[in-house]
Amino acid sequence: MTRLFGTNGIRWRPDSEKDHNFPVELGLAIGTYFGKGSTICMGRDTRITGPVISAGVASGILSTGCSIIDVGVVPTPTVQYGVRILGVAGGVMITASHNPPEFNGLKCIDNDGTEMARDKEEEIEKIYYSKEFQYARWDEVGKFKANDEISFAHMDHISSLIVPDSGWKKLKVVIDCSNGPAGKFTPKILRDMGCDVHTINAQPDGMFPGRLPEPLEKNLSGLMNAVVNAGADLGIAHDGDADRATFVDEKGNYINGDESLAVFTIDSLATEKGKVVVPVNTSRKVIDSIVENDGEVELTPIGSPVIARRMKMVNARVGGEGNGGVIFPENMLCRDGIMTAAKMVEILATSDLKLSEMVENLPDYTIIRSKFTCPDDLKTKVLDDVKKAMSDLEVIDIDGVKIEGENWWVLLRPSGTEPIFRVTAEAKDPEMAQNKLDEFKVLLKKIIEELS
Ligand code: MG
Repeated sequence: MTRLFGTNGIRWRPDSEKDHNFPVELGLAIGTYFGKGSTICMGRDTRITGPVISAGVASGILSTGCSIIDVGVVPTPTVQYGVRILGVAGGVMITASHNPPEFNGLKCIDNDGTEMARDKEEEIEKIYYSKEFQYARWDEVGKFKANDEISFAHMDHISSLIVPDSGWKKLKVVIDCSNGPAGKFTPKILRDMGCDVHTINAQPDGMFPGRLPEPLEKNLSGLMNAVVNAGADLGIAHDGDADRATFVDEKGNYINGDESLAVFTIDSLATEKGKVVVPVNTSRKVIDSIVENDGEVELTPIGSPVIARRMKMVNARVGGEGNGGVIFPENMLCRDGIMTAAKMVEILATSDLKLSEMVENLPDYTIIRSKFTCPDDLKTKVLDDVKKAMSDLEVIDIDGVKIEGENWWVLLRPSGTEPIFRVTAEAKDPEMAQNKLDEFKVLLKKIIEELS
């Protein structure tokens, strides 16, 4: 059985007859999973295929006797907030997150507002492939209701958590909304918090004319220039569905997601000690910051649904990934780019330090990412042999194999879609990071040759 759901939902490019029928069958599978009489909260991002796909998915869901509360064009976390606040069975978000405009996708939300766990996604996949859908009789089909209150409720919720006082510095902020749903949210919330807000790419437009929706440094030259030209204290960039936020400092420098996660971690642990949940590929800039600030590190496999679930289990202070996806449990157990933006404003408005200074104070590490070709059928055996070869060192094997040295680490992760290993190396010394990367590539080559 082919997997439908990846780490963060399903993605596809809707071109063919098959692609256009897919949403209806997906809706039938989702509705059958939740069961007749359930209600599902549904939203979509600004992509131009959003209306056609959400109509297809809705048609499938309603046909199974489930009802829909449609919250319109919103960030993914708004649907997650809606599920919780409406007390419904689950949620569906039509989005391809950071992918280019020609893609779209779907994320399923569980009844507690978290991204659905893998075992539940598997149940939906099983129903989808078996085609054993539960069709409702004509007088039992679901009801469709639009609701535009949830957007405001989500914004009010964030505003209730971050309340400015008279001691706050007034910040000038430039927000790059990625032409996504964030345009209706982040500028308003930050203005209400007293910021002088400037925006770029704030109009919703599913062609993403301003920039590609992934908030990588190479896509954010517009924001970096705007911060410098405006003399702003902070730049904020969302991805296409605003579950993430990345930042630009007052000098116009791009701050990578590990660095901002470290800033959030330090801030969180300053208020109260506790656990911080991060995936195995997280930079030691974050790990060392947690330890130095008397926090406890909880490592998980990669993927925000796993992080959120672990945070719930261990009652974590904060958690997240090095891609700008941060989870603040006082808000919700999911990534929320708007909350992340608001939290950064709070930190800067109440600190004597500028963002560039906070980042300069972080532990110094260099991270390098690369890949290495390996036939799919050898991947498991290769990882076993790497573990054996490295058994003198600390080996973490919760997701791929991570080898921990004193001032360095290397992570080997098999790709689920390509015949490659993703190889990440980090060290205090840039040269050492490169040497470790090369060393492990030589080891991989040797092991693969021996096994072939
Ligand atoms: Mg996203």
